[in-house]
Amino acid sequence: RRNIAVMTSGGDAPGMNANVRAIVRTAIFKGCRAFGIYEGYSGLVKGGPEYIREMNWHTVRDWLAEGGTNIGTARCMEFKEKWGRLRACKNMIDAGIDALIVCGGDGSLTGADRFRGEWPELISELLHKQEITQDQYDRYKHLNICGTVGSIDNDMATTDATIGAYSSLARICEAVDYINATANSHQRAFVVEVMGRHCGWLALMAGIATAADWIFIPEKPSSRSEWSSHMCEIVAKHRARGKRTTIVIVAEGAIDASLNPITPDDVKDVLVDKLGLDTRVTTLGHVQRGGPAVAYDRELATLQGVAAVEAILDGTPETPSPMIAIAENKIVRRPLMEAVKLTKSVAQAIADKDFAKAISLRDTEFTE
Ligand code: ATP
Repeated sequence: RRNIAVMTSGGDAPGMNANVRAIVRTAIFKGCRAFGIYEGYSGLVKGGPEYIREMNWHTVRDWLAEGGTNIGTARCMEFKEKWGRLRACKNMIDAGIDALIVCGGDGSLTGADRFRGEWPELISELLHKQEITQDQYDRYKHLNICGTVGSIDNDMATTDATIGAYSSLARICEAVDYINATANSHQRAFVVEVMGRHCGWLALMAGIATAADWIFIPEKPSSRSEWSSHMCEIVAKHRARGKRTTIVIVAEGAIDASLNPITPDDVKDVLVDKLGLDTRVTTLGHVQRGGPAVAYDRELATLQGVAAVEAILDGTPETPSPMIAIAENKIVRRPLMEAVKLTKSVAQAIADKDFAKAISLRDTEFTE
């Protein structure tokens, strides 16, 4: 019988609630106790009944479709410090927790793995300082953790989809559909900025799903003279064929060949100056994160929640921390740190302007 806690951390994503619901109910179904850590690592460092609460079957009723995360999320600098993780360790032991499932992005999962790796040292220090008893030390000397990936960006290596990405994509497409109606009426051009941090997945998929005229993604930078002439050539061709609207989607992390950001206003200026189009900029902002989770995210979060509890129950002190992924439509376990390392290498390759390497790393086939 384990006491399993679940936490959401980093940026919120639709489907996180469904993931927490599945984890809580699967844990209870398997005869374990379930706890929710509120406000991410910050709640773990603060501890106590306000932040660490036992969850029962009914606590998570109606959470399946809800957007955001009802147990809260945060960025927590204290957890990056050793003293913060020592407090977190003590708070977990005080609450009787011996396993932790974290739903978050690569930063949150790195934090979880670091916590697990350091756990023997932290718990020994607590024993040495007589903050815990020998019995507690013996009972809690191993911490099991598991990661599920909650992020609208779909930027984690070794998984085909992150929880929340398809909901965000659906919201972007809906917004572009609305924009298209007004653009059509006035024959306007719209430059739409979408989220995704350093990853162009949302912009790319939204471009395909809305038949945008042009997209900008971090993975395919080009010089200003190149992109402006090529984009204008395509847009002019579409207009000449009778298209009344122009939609250009810009990923928030879009960059040019010199690694300078490409902003929606840069794109607007080119469309106005070179083509004389009546052009407006729309930054979708946080609507992309809000609203209910789409069916795919509800399923993914639920199946991965079940798999996360199973992985915890199968875990031994020797097995590396798992991350629950989806690959070729199958829910699978991946070694968490390898997935995080690969994700970071992609970001580094982009920062080093080595785009071919970034793309080939992102396409890396994961082998067991
Ligand atoms: P998103 O993809 O939405 O940005 P993320 O999980 O990558 O999510 P971060 O802000 O990078 O978001 O990390 C969330 C929290 O995880 C941090 O505020 C911090 O508390 C913890 N964390 C991140 N990296 C580490 C680390 N190296 N060591 C300990 N804790 C960390």
